[in-house]
This record gives sequence, C-alpha cells and structure tokens, in this order.
Amino acid sequence: MSHTQPHRQNRVGWLRAAVLGANDGIVSTASLIVGVAAANASHISIVVAGTAGLVAGAISMAAGEYVSVCAQADTEKADLLLEKQSLENDYESEVTELAKIYQQRGVEQALSVTVAQQLMSHDALGAHARDDIGISELTSAKPLSAAFASALSFTFGALLPLMTAYFYQADNLSLVIALLSLIFLAMLGVISAYLSGAKILTGVVRVTFWGALALLATALVGQAFNVTIS
Ligand SMILES: [Zn+2]
Repeated sequence: MSHTQPHRQNRVGWLRAAVLGANDGIVSTASLIVGVAAANASHISIVVAGTAGLVAGAISMAAGEYVSVCAQADTEKADLLLEKQSLENDYESEVTELAKIYQQRGVEQALSVTVAQQLMSHDALGAHARDDIGISELTSAKPLSAAFASALSFTFGALLPLMTAYFYQADNLSLVIALLSLIFLAMLGVISAYLSGAKILTGVVRVTFWGALALLATALVGQAFNVTIS
C-alpha cells in the first residue's frame, strides 16, 4: 500500500452514471405511479404503468448514455488523429506548443522546453493527449459499460417504488410512494455525497428537491384527470 489517499477522480465517471441512473429510476417511476394512482386507476393499471416505465426508462437511459459516450469517443479519436498528423508534419512546433503549455502552468522557459522534449521522446502522442488535448486514461470513453451501468442503476432505482406499488394496495398509495421515494432519494443523496466527498446535506437537498417537484407535478396531473373522469 504505497497510495494511502486514493484520488476520487477515478470514481467520478461511474459514480455520476450510477447516481444519475438510480435517481432517474426512482423519480420517473415513482412520479408515473403517483400520477396514475392519483387518477384513481386500478391496482393492476398502476403496476403495468410502473413496469412499462421501468423498461422504457432503462432502455432510454442505456441508449442516451451509449450515444453520448460514443460521441465523446469519436471526438477524442478525431483529436488524437489530428495530433498524430501534426506530430508527423511539424514535430518542432509541437515541442514549442507543449513547452508553452508548461510555461502557462508556471514552468520557466528553458526548463519547459527540456520537459517537453523529454516527455515527447518518451511518448509524443501520449504527452500531447494528456497536456494539450486533455485526454487521460481516466476520461477515455467506454460506451457499452456506461450504457450497461446506466440501465442497471435505473432499474435498481425504479424497482424501489415499483415493488412498493406491487405489494402495497390501499387508497393512500400515492402518498406512501411519494414519501418512500423521497426517503430513497435522500439515502441516494447521502451515499453519493459520501462517495464523492461532498457535504451530506448538500447532496440530500440536491437530489430530493427535483424528486419532490416531479412527484408533485404528476400528482397534480393525475388529480386533474381524476376530477374529469368522476
Ligand atoms: Zn499538440
């Protein structure tokens, strides 16, 4: 164990995707169920709506994440190709370019050229990828695992309100789902704040605020239809 203080940076990628997925799963499925239940729908309709919401949401999350990470990967590939060509065509100005970057970060002129030359003789493209374009191994995109992680965390989040709706049959289902979901969201806020090293209260407020807003909005929608029907 040489590294006693692990950096949080390498957790940020999957953590962001997992928290976003679970958050989406809870908020969208719970609001869907609350909306349908507030319109006085039958228990089976509520469960069907929630299940359809889970499946649609999980696939949509996976697709969205896949497309966005692919786009990021394409951009990185294109940038690397340009950099590679530029290194082949004009190596000297690439040395100067990298040296200037180190000067801007506080390295003195002569030393910055030495650093640039030595890093580039070791791995020219790698040095430019890191310090010129800003691509590191940490940020290099993995579309399929990102898509899978999103779908999985969405499903996990969606199962919480859906299972509640499945096993709980009473008139106050909307209220129970809404309250439980806010508790789930608060727990999610605590976990994500703990993992990312942020303040607990900030994490909780951030996550539950939008959940409460969504639940309130769909409850009103359901209520409006309920009034119209009866
Ligand atoms: Zn460059």
